[in-house]
Amino acid sequence: MPEFDKRYNLFGGLTFMKTIFTLIGILLLILLFLLLITIVRTLLLKQKTSVYHGSDDDKRSNDYALKLQKMIKVDTVSIKNQPDPDKFRKLHKVMEKLFPNVFKTCEKHDIDGNLLVRWPGRNSKMQPIVLTSHLDVVAAEGDWTYPPFEGKIVDGKIYGRGSFDVKCGVFSFYQAVEELIKDGYVPECDIYLASSCTEEVGGDGAPKMSKWFEDHKIRPFMLCDEGGCITEDPFVGVKGNFAAVGIFEKGYGDIKIIAKGNGGHSSAPGKNTPIARLAKFEAEIEKKSPFKVEFTPAVDSLLLTMAEYCSNFWIKMILHNLWLFKPLLKIVMPAISPQGAAMLQTTMCFTMQKGSNGYNVIPQEAYVTANMRYIPFQGKDESIQLVKDIAKKYDLEVEELGCSEPSSSLDLNGPQYKMVKDTINKIFPSVEVIPYIVTGGTDSRFYDRSVDACVRFEPINSTKDQLSRMHGIDENIDINTLPLAVDFYKEIIRKQEER
Ligand SMILES: [Zn+2]
Repeated sequence: MPEFDKRYNLFGGLTFMKTIFTLIGILLLILLFLLLITIVRTLLLKQKTSVYHGSDDDKRSNDYALKLQKMIKVDTVSIKNQPDPDKFRKLHKVMEKLFPNVFKTCEKHDIDGNLLVRWPGRNSKMQPIVLTSHLDVVAAEGDWTYPPFEGKIVDGKIYGRGSFDVKCGVFSFYQAVEELIKDGYVPECDIYLASSCTEEVGGDGAPKMSKWFEDHKIRPFMLCDEGGCITEDPFVGVKGNFAAVGIFEKGYGDIKIIAKGNGGHSSAPGKNTPIARLAKFEAEIEKKSPFKVEFTPAVDSLLLTMAEYCSNFWIKMILHNLWLFKPLLKIVMPAISPQGAAMLQTTMCFTMQKGSNGYNVIPQEAYVTANMRYIPFQGKDESIQLVKDIAKKYDLEVEELGCSEPSSSLDLNGPQYKMVKDTINKIFPSVEVIPYIVTGGTDSRFYDRSVDACVRFEPINSTKDQLSRMHGIDENIDINTLPLAVDFYKEIIRKQEER
């Protein structure tokens, strides 16, 4: 009997091992088969290119640049909690000279320095549209090659604070309306041009204009603001110029995490002093983000489009086969790319920290602040609760210092997105359109309640270098991007006839 048992067990063991090897074999075969499908699908995908061509009408580019130069020359730096409407009225005056037909034909509303202009359309019952870009700029510090408020034009570029962010936008839609009026055109619906003077300081300019629409019981069909633009090489492995249309804005929040203790002399500190607890908390958040990672339809659409333009075969294969690689991307994207993480989840960044006032004093209270950007599928309350749960483990308190929810999202199948996409396709036929998640803040968020849909797109082309100079030194744009920006706004105004 013992002999038999031994043989039986051996036999049973062999069967078990055989089953395991068979299962592994089947799994490997399935994997190989799936891999083969993804490779074939990738090989069949046509390689596309997306390229921006600026205007070749040099006269138009130069004339426009000279007008923009006059707008840059008016210093419109906004300072938090120091409203100065008269500073902006100087720019209104300059604009009245630059765009005489606009100010002759349209209604002008000066709302504490914020400029709201109404161009009456043929059909007053039709919902109007709003074209918006702000008049204010951030301060110009550091060593500029050319003075920041001169608007110097050198080698096809115009330099100056606001050249890119975003007097180019204000110039372009005013010029569009100016030329259309000159041609005798009357728009189908009312067209509003709304320019706040407090965007850069998150002030009350845009909220006041948004309220103006509500007070007058006017509900615009669409608002077109800054946010995305035509941008270069937007994704790893993807070269070219893409029209990035901002479809929503993440929420914004500052929080303070506080550690309390008994204080005392640092010669006999004991364990878990306030700063040590904060450090452990910070390390935990940094090591493993507590926030949910999700692929929204917009991210899916962005990655699938990127696949068609990607020159690296393996990246192309992953992007084109999201049905298989999405779980992998969910882990890899936030881990290797800060931009990737910002697209897929709420983010949290530690910004300021304070302990005691002496080298040898244990603080009775220490704190660290963090800036958070909330994703719509995990808004302010849920995100902060996750932080509170972790803070509790280290006996820390969390205080909210001012937070706003994410904006609502533009429907990718809705008429407003289609209208802007069609306009881009017409004016920039060689440029692909991609949905884009705005991680910074714009004035549009204040219009969330008062308009049907906000589209965040500025029809200006920028290189990577130009994009990095926004709010920085030597801000500039190419002057041959201006005629096409003007054409974009003319077209979007004409497009209202098709509604
Ligand atoms: Zn801006």
